[in-house]
Amino acid sequence: PKMGDGLSTFLNSGIYQFENSNAVFIDPVRVMNRSYTHFRVSPSAYYPRFFESKPLAQESRVSSSNSRKRKRKEKKPHSLNDREKAAEQRHQEARPFLLKAHKCLLRATALLELMSNMRSDSESLQEGGDLVSPSVPQQSFVELGQDWHAPFHEIILDFRQYDKLNVDKGSMIMQYSEQKLHPLFNNLVLNETGDDVEAEFLSSRFVIPGKSCFYMSDLEQIHSLIPAESCCGFNLIVVDPPWENGSASQKSRYPTLPNRYFLSLPIKQLTHADGALVALWVTNREKLRGFVEKELFLAWGVMHVATFYWLKAMDSECLSKFKPVQHNQIIISIPGAYSRKPPIGGLLPEYFPGFKPTRCIELFAREMTSGWTSWGNEPLHFQDFKYFTRN
Ligand code: SAM
Repeated sequence: PKMGDGLSTFLNSGIYQFENSNAVFIDPVRVMNRSYTHFRVSPSAYYPRFFESKPLAQESRVSSSNSRKRKRKEKKPHSLNDREKAAEQRHQEARPFLLKAHKCLLRATALLELMSNMRSDSESLQEGGDLVSPSVPQQSFVELGQDWHAPFHEIILDFRQYDKLNVDKGSMIMQYSEQKLHPLFNNLVLNETGDDVEAEFLSSRFVIPGKSCFYMSDLEQIHSLIPAESCCGFNLIVVDPPWENGSASQKSRYPTLPNRYFLSLPIKQLTHADGALVALWVTNREKLRGFVEKELFLAWGVMHVATFYWLKAMDSECLSKFKPVQHNQIIISIPGAYSRKPPIGGLLPEYFPGFKPTRCIELFAREMTSGWTSWGNEPLHFQDFKYFTRN
């Protein structure tokens, strides 16, 4: 059968726009592959929970089927306090959009089939390339960065294999090869070439996308990213803070910070003279939503323009000068590793203020993207070789 336009766009971009809907489906693996030339993001490493779970039934289910969550809701009915009432109202408002988006997903059978075939495809093709995963356990950058000898750690960027200079038309090929050493922490590490390069630190290897950079540090050093002049600031700022929440599983994965720390994030100082679109990830907790709307936005000097919802499609159990940003948009995707957010940069370009190319930064990042600056205490976390295959 002829492939629909939407599906062929999806195969290239990783973004599927449902017709007549404010919902999109994102496949982070496809989106991220646009950042790489010599490597591919490994679907099984990106979607560990999806690959571990049993094969998808024809129909996808939404993660509200999570039994733990359901049990919590089955408590005896009691009269709601003000915060619970506010939460209830917010949920009632969001319900129709989310249900409609879910219906769109269920109707997109070709897309669902493509996604549920991912498991068998990657088994039969060995994910289309050589596995590059090393056997050494992954470094904890968070711990290393706090160690007294953090300033002495260096990362080697290896431009050896990729910057090949074709000097003459086929008769002679000169190989340009260079290794560059950079301090790993509290330092801007840059890959200015258009190609991804390999990097080495202790016994681990990483992939650094072309035209990207990272600054690995604690929050205390974030001011180092503030540009000397605001014309060099950023037009898109994605922030995924380490919010505190009660979950024990979160505590073992990365450190969290009390809300007051985020009030002092230098959002204004990072902003481009033409302005910036700030995209902030929040969890669905009424207390947090209150803090964000009443305190955080004021402190940052930003105005709330739109809310997007992330609908986790198939979890482990199943499948001005500013253009106004469309409100109540839904992003549907299969969740990756714990707290890993789908890349949303590609959904927003029409809304960025200022000239192109857009200057983009991600705060509290655990990965890198071509064309972006990534800051956090572990921006190399998902750049480890084990998350990639070689082309
Ligand atoms: N957006 C990321 C993703 O999709 O994988 C997840 C970010 S996670 C919610 C928050 C990050 O903030 C974690 O990597 C955590 O280690 C980092 N973090 C926690 N405390 C920090 C601090 N004091 N300074 C810098 N980063 C910190």
